[in-house]
Amino acid sequence: MQEICSLSLESLKAWLESNGEKSFRAQQIYDWIYTKDASAFEEMTNLGKELRQKLAASLRYPTLKLVRTQESEDGETIKFLWELADGKRVESVLIMSAARRTVCVSCQVGCPARCAFCASGKEGLMRNLSAGEIVEQVLHINRFLKQRGERVCHIVFMGMGEPMENYEAVLDAIQIFNDPNSFQISQRRITVSTVGVVEGIDRLAKEDLSVNLVLSLHAPNQHLRKKIIPYARKYPLEEILMAMERYARETKRDITYEYTLLAEINDQAEHAEELANLLRGKQCTVNLIPYNPVDGLKLRRPAKEAIEEFRNILMDAKINTTWRYTKGKDIAAACGQLALQK
Ligand code: SAH
Repeated sequence: MQEICSLSLESLKAWLESNGEKSFRAQQIYDWIYTKDASAFEEMTNLGKELRQKLAASLRYPTLKLVRTQESEDGETIKFLWELADGKRVESVLIMSAARRTVCVSCQVGCPARCAFCASGKEGLMRNLSAGEIVEQVLHINRFLKQRGERVCHIVFMGMGEPMENYEAVLDAIQIFNDPNSFQISQRRITVSTVGVVEGIDRLAKEDLSVNLVLSLHAPNQHLRKKIIPYARKYPLEEILMAMERYARETKRDITYEYTLLAEINDQAEHAEELANLLRGKQCTVNLIPYNPVDGLKLRRPAKEAIEEFRNILMDAKINTTWRYTKGKDIAAACGQLALQK
């Protein structure tokens, strides 16, 4: 059964019309779900009983079940573990820094990319999430925040999964996040992170959206990148970088490159220099993410001095560089720590 949360307002209107109903009902239904926080179709008292029954018989009402939440020691990160209708599980992370409330959503159960340093792809891909299952992660977290008088204002597709490998559902979810009748989150506050799927980047560039696109770069050359990112075999670095630049040109968005620092693998001064040469003169930001430990992996996080040196080399080359302060590491909610849960 299709989830109601998979439907954009337009699709819900079309669904209603094809079921012999008036399309303005779509707005009322959206209002019940996203504003009034109804918990079932029956509660939608301004809809006729017959319509409510028709909806309940054809569309699944939000079904994500909260299994548990874990809060980081500093209270700034909360990880939510959800059970889907088929019993599979996914996680989302709420990151609270100053006034910002960001949800890091998962878009797949497992991940096909299987990067060497990431927990999400250890067992490969189990299945795609539907748009509704992506939207519901934010719906429930937004309801949680409302009790504190707050709301979700930023979304990052940086949880489990590769967004470009579940393209349609991700795009539908973006549309729903953006809708003034649901979350009203501006596209500029939505970020998609990709391992580097060239067709996906080019396709997104043509969507007439202004979402941010981030590339998980992690190496300054194709040779090293291939060693830690299996997907690099299919998509050479040079082609990915050109696609990112096309994206930036078409959408007028800045480019961000994520670089997970792995001790003695990609964190040496020579790597920083090679990266500086690769990106010199380009309008972009490099976001350094010190490796977060993943069970069963023998990788290490570089020492603070090594990270600083790496950053300084990039900054000396006039490359805008940020160093992501790791949040939620104590509850395994940091980048790359979301894993399959059974
Ligand atoms: N599949 C997408 C989005 C998910 S990962 C992508 O590859 O971009 C979000 C970010 O966390 C990516 O940049 C990823 O490379 C990084 N990451 C993965 N594992 C990590 C780890 N153990 N420590 C630090 N960052 C990690």
